[in-house]
Amino acid sequence: MWCIKCKGPASIYIRRHNSAFCEEHYLEYMRKQVERAIEYYKMFTREEKILVAVSGGKDSLALWDILLDLGYTADGIHIDIGIGEYSIISKEKVRTFASSRGVKCYEVNLKDIYQTSITYIARKNNRSYCSTCGVIKRYIMNLFTVLVGYDVIVTGHNLDDESASLLGNVLHWQIEYLRSQFPIMPKELGFSRKAKPLCRVTDEETTKYCDIKCINYVSERCPLSKKAQSLVYKELLSQLEASSPGSKAQFYFGFLERGKRYFVEKQETLSISNCKICGQPTTEDICSFCRQMRRAGLDPLLLKSTIERNI
Ligand code: AMP
Ligand code: ZN
Ligand code: ZN
Repeated sequence: MWCIKCKGPASIYIRRHNSAFCEEHYLEYMRKQVERAIEYYKMFTREEKILVAVSGGKDSLALWDILLDLGYTADGIHIDIGIGEYSIISKEKVRTFASSRGVKCYEVNLKDIYQTSITYIARKNNRSYCSTCGVIKRYIMNLFTVLVGYDVIVTGHNLDDESASLLGNVLHWQIEYLRSQFPIMPKELGFSRKAKPLCRVTDEETTKYCDIKCINYVSERCPLSKKAQSLVYKELLSQLEASSPGSKAQFYFGFLERGKRYFVEKQETLSISNCKICGQPTTEDICSFCRQMRRAGLDPLLLKSTIERNI
C-alpha cells in the first residue's frame, strides 16, 4: 500500500475514498477535509473569533488542533457536567491539551453553580440523561458565545454522528430537528452561529489523527449515554458502509444538497421569541433550559449571572 501523495509506504487506508496515506499526508488530508467544509459552507474566516466546544473526546480535541494548525484563532469552552470520574478525566484532557498548545479554555462547572448534577435534573424532569444533558450543553454554549462575543461556536460532530442522527430523525420524522443537521447554522435572533467543521470525516479518521498527533483524549464513552439510541444507528450505518463504502457520506451529503430548500430556506416558518424567564431565544414562551431547571427546583438565572461574573 502506497501513499497517494508521496508514493512512499502508506499506513492508513480510507476505503470510501479508495486512498492510502503515509502519516504526514494523512494529517494533510484531515486539514484539507476541515478546510473544505469551512470554505464550502462558509463557516468562518481567519479574521473571526472562534469558540470550540471541547468535551475532552477525540473529535473536539482533533478539531481544535486542526483549527490551530490552519491558523485560526480558536479558544475552547469545556462544560463540566459533574458526573464523577468521567467528568474529572475529561476536564484533565482538555486542560492538558490547552496548556500544550498555549490556548485559552473557559470552563463552566455545573456542579459548582447548582450543587447538583445532570442526573438529578433529568430525574426531576422524567427525561433521559442524554436529552437533559443536550439541552443544558446547547444552552450554555449559546449563552457563552453570545455573552463573551465570539463570532461562532464549533462542535466536533463528525460524519458518523451526523449521519446517525439523520437516520434517527428520518426514522421518526422529526422534521423540526432536520434543520439543525446542517453543518452551519447562521446567527439569528439571539442564537449564535454554529458550525460543524468535522462533517466530512469519520470517527475512525479522528481517532487516527489523535493517535498520530499524540493527542490524549478520553476514550471511554460517557457513562450516561451507554444506552443511547444513536449508537444503534451508528452501528447500522457502519454495517451498510462495510458492504457499500461511501453510503454514509452519500446519505448525509445527499440530504444536505436536496434538503436545503425544504429545511433551511423555509426557516421563516419558525417563530422565535425571547424566553419569558431568561430572555434567550426560544420557539415557546419559556425555553427548555428554564423549564427543566424550574422543574428541578433550580434557579435558571443563576447560570447567566455566574458566567457574567466570571468573564
Ligand atoms: P456528543 O454529543 O457528546 O457526541 O458531543 C458532540 C460535540 O459537542 C463534541 O464534539 C463537542 O464539540 C461538544 N461537547 C460535548 N460535550 C461537551 C462538553 N462537556 N463540553 C464542551 N463541549 C462538549
Ligand atoms: Zn505520503
Ligand atoms: Zn429561558
